[in-house]
Amino acid sequence: MKNYRLKRGYGVINVALFGLLVAGCSADKDSTAAVSEAVATDTVMDSIVVYSSRKEHLIQPVFAQFTEQTGIAVKYTTDKAGVLIERIKTEGQNSPADLLITVDAGNLGYAAAEGIFQPMKSAVINQNIAAHLRDDKDLWTGLSLRARTIVYSTERVRSSDLSTYQAIGQNQWQGRVCLRTSKKVYNQSLVAMLIAELGETKAEQTVASWVANLAIPPTSNDTKVMQAIAAGQCDIGIVNTYYFGRLQAQQPDLPLALYWPNQADDDNSGVHVNVSGGGILKHSKNPDQARRLLEWLASEQAQGLFAGLNKEYPVISSVAIDPQVISWGDFKQSSLSLSRAFQLQPAAVKLMDRVGYQ
Ligand code: FE
Repeated sequence: MKNYRLKRGYGVINVALFGLLVAGCSADKDSTAAVSEAVATDTVMDSIVVYSSRKEHLIQPVFAQFTEQTGIAVKYTTDKAGVLIERIKTEGQNSPADLLITVDAGNLGYAAAEGIFQPMKSAVINQNIAAHLRDDKDLWTGLSLRARTIVYSTERVRSSDLSTYQAIGQNQWQGRVCLRTSKKVYNQSLVAMLIAELGETKAEQTVASWVANLAIPPTSNDTKVMQAIAAGQCDIGIVNTYYFGRLQAQQPDLPLALYWPNQADDDNSGVHVNVSGGGILKHSKNPDQARRLLEWLASEQAQGLFAGLNKEYPVISSVAIDPQVISWGDFKQSSLSLSRAFQLQPAAVKLMDRVGYQ
């Protein structure tokens, strides 16, 4: 119900906006770099500038609601995370940007390590967002949650055949596994988390066993993993939940399902999750208003829309979830600190290289 109401609101708000072109459909691909204004009005007193690697159609309706409620206009630029971080560094003190919004603790952690954020002092964020989904130095916060989990063929695999991330390396899966390239930050974060949980030796054995079970060379993206499974090239893979959501919405009879690994009572890990998130930039001219936007995005009223537009999970458990996302069932998530896991990313990259994961 809640999601329906929010979607209807999105349409109403759009009528009041400049005609904005909706670009692409992936939160992590290239997009246009043109600065767009979320709202056309001469009456707003304040404005902030957001650099976002989250795509325009995922942020624009949310910013429009923020402006409507606060009178603070939001200008934004979208591009790849790496491009935006370089741009912020190059612009230095002259940067017009107040906030960076991007996906994955790998990108957020990299931005923090490059020194482009300033610490946030926000009781709202500290209260609303679980500590493992925020930076331990308060340089960034998660704003929506995605799980990186197992997807399987409902035609050739029973869910009872599956158990843990580690078990993807068992002999029964020889020649039946599809994985996305190790070059993607999502897999670097996943392997960093495996190192944190299992130790480097066991994590390396695990990833090596996955590679040994590959049916085809690693694919360039998560959707291709699912398409390969649907086409019978492989039977299981690992994907972010929202990519499954998009494909399932396009093809309701998709012969695939999600599986939540590491759920046993005596398993103290759980499903690996990551976030989209943001941080206030060091040279922001409007840090208070930038913080207001982050706090608003972390509020109950914004969370359903912000997460639901991309079929993600809200970071506040009290907020209603998109019905399609609900249909995938509940899971126990790993409570590993994402900012700590980021510190293991260099080790993860080397590990994947050692085991020949391309
Ligand atoms: Fe993505």
